[in-house]
Amino acid sequence: MARPLVAHINLSALRHNYRLARQLHGGRALAVVKANAYGHGAVPCAQALSDEADGFAVACIEEALQLRQAGITAPILLLEGIFSPDELPLVSVHDLWLVVHHELQYQWLAAYHTDYRFTVWLKMNSGMNRVGFFPADYAEKYHQLTALPQVKKVVLMTHFARADEPDSSASAEQLARFQAICAQLPAERSACNSAAVLGVPAAHGDWARPGIMLYGSNPFEQTLENTAALQPVMSLRSEVIAVRDLPAGEPIGYGARFVTDAPTRVGVVACGYADGYPRVVSTGTPVWVAGQRSRIIGRVSMDMLTIDLTPVPQAQVGSAVELWGEHININEIAAAAGTISYELLCNVKRARFVWQA
Ligand SMILES: *Cc1c(COP(=O)(O)O)cnc(C)c1O
Repeated sequence: MARPLVAHINLSALRHNYRLARQLHGGRALAVVKANAYGHGAVPCAQALSDEADGFAVACIEEALQLRQAGITAPILLLEGIFSPDELPLVSVHDLWLVVHHELQYQWLAAYHTDYRFTVWLKMNSGMNRVGFFPADYAEKYHQLTALPQVKKVVLMTHFARADEPDSSASAEQLARFQAICAQLPAERSACNSAAVLGVPAAHGDWARPGIMLYGSNPFEQTLENTAALQPVMSLRSEVIAVRDLPAGEPIGYGARFVTDAPTRVGVVACGYADGYPRVVSTGTPVWVAGQRSRIIGRVSMDMLTIDLTPVPQAQVGSAVELWGEHININEIAAAAGTISYELLCNVKRARFVWQA
């Protein structure tokens, strides 16, 4: 017997979502599997996509090496490039692609003499003001890079700050700055994260970089026409481990945050904030139990949470619970927690992971 909390990972849904991203965007798509594939398991997810993905993107060399050691031979882009020049030998040995977003990274590369030929993704800061070269400096950096004998190819890239807000003009403004400079540079382009793949068609280019949509989560607050086709990849499932009938007026859990206002049937579920379920959510947050929706009541504890079984008479110890996944949209839980699905997915821990082909 084992604790019943399971993160069930549907790899065919992952493949479906990758194909959708690639088809909506056109061109090629790097599957973003940084942060352990947003908590879904980088190696099994990359292996599931290895037949069809044009390449992968990760945050750092440690993540890339994990994929190479698992036998992934497709291109892998380091989205933040290198953090120190001593990473360059490994970058070349493992044939990784690297972002150059800062002058120091350019200098490290320029000073590294080798017969290897690097593929560089040159990042423009088109308005997010996090990393990248200003538009005014971008073309010069492009020409400096292409002049280096150790550089084989330069891809032009930028990243949107507000692509998940379809009513904002910010992406169009960023795109205009990016395209104005790129028009003079004979190179492939990449601008789109998931939200831009789905919602900023003018930004589609040679390479997409979808992340969250691969995992089936809609990056927008509202459902758009093409987000309805996304299939959730992770279902976080557990079971009812205790049932208790309480009269009206009884407090439940830490801080007595919920007091029954009527006779109430309470279920205890093996899942808590130590598993990555957000403690901050309040009474009323949805949960799926024994085939129907119900709600969390009282505070989420470290290893358990309590749910209302009054409207679910068929529920008993051992009944199946879904915290999010196929029945409960993770965006509902994220909204209840004041965060985004990305953070919830990345935070899942202690659960047993089951990857289903
Ligand atoms: C993480 C990341 C992505 C993927 O973003 P999603 O919103 O998950 O699609 C794309 N590009 C860059 C540079 C990133 O860091």
